[in-house]
Amino acid sequence: MSTTTLFLERLGTLIQQSVREDAARHGLLPIHLQVLQYLVQANRYSDLPIAVADYFGITRGTVSQTLGVLERKGLVVKRPDSRDGRRLHIGLTPAGEAVLGESWCERVQNVLSAQADAAELEETLRAILIALQRINGQRAFGVCRECVHFQTGANGARCGLTGESLATEQTEKICREWTEPATTEG
Ligand code: SF4
Repeated sequence: MSTTTLFLERLGTLIQQSVREDAARHGLLPIHLQVLQYLVQANRYSDLPIAVADYFGITRGTVSQTLGVLERKGLVVKRPDSRDGRRLHIGLTPAGEAVLGESWCERVQNVLSAQADAAELEETLRAILIALQRINGQRAFGVCRECVHFQTGANGARCGLTGESLATEQTEKICREWTEPATTEG
């Protein structure tokens, strides 16, 4: 194992440990906390049970159980899609958002932002993540603004895939339909 691989393995283990501790503090399992963290970042095409299953590589049954627990605890709420009432969007309640306060994310972000080459580090991590997701056959779930389908014009932002307008806050979230822009190399 190379030193870089070892560092990534140690970072992964450290973060998992932090997630376990944060979750336990709220009487939750790690997956509960991870799903809350995912949902707060997910755009309107991705705040769906099927997208949660894709993101974590878990079954729909497990997603259903997990969302059921979060709903009973008052941490998430389901709301039907305005066009298709059978589709349910899942959002965090104020109590759900409060669970994410002072979490491991903030601690990691504080350390990252203190690095002199934070932007370069982000690019390197992005490239590693996309390459590994490709190898594993997983969806990339990138940030909307960085998607090949993202368009801007006089009327604001638009998704080239669905043809729908995008509110600014949606363009900063992650999407299950995200597609990597083609590189100009080669
Ligand atoms: S532009 Fe890409 S990331 Fe944004 S909503 Fe459309 S498909 Fe999703």
